[in-house]
Amino acid sequence: MTARKENRYILRDGQKHIVDRKGKEIGVIIHKKNYCENHNGHLGFTCPVPRDGWIGFESGLDLDHQDGDHYNNAPENVKTYCKICHGKKSIVEGDCSSHKSSSRKFNIV
Ligand SMILES: [Zn+2]
Repeated sequence: MTARKENRYILRDGQKHIVDRKGKEIGVIIHKKNYCENHNGHLGFTCPVPRDGWIGFESGLDLDHQDGDHYNNAPENVKTYCKICHGKKSIVEGDCSSHKSSSRKFNIV
């Protein structure tokens, strides 16, 4: 007899939590899209890759947490950006400054 893996979901704190058959939480649904959300240029610069250009290359997409809390995976707190836009956004907004290894200042040209 094989045990079928049947996960269910509960909604708590605006997040979808994955629970196993016994109701134990085993994870959170990550709301990652298969395109860069900056295709409309809302970051102040436009993604250089067409919206459907990431299909098959999803590993080039990152999740960006709007509030900086990497454990807050609520849909409204996460944006999907490609590595190009995410990197440029981090430099523009100074996200890097919180990391010791990259605390130096960058000049954008
Ligand atoms: Zn992009």
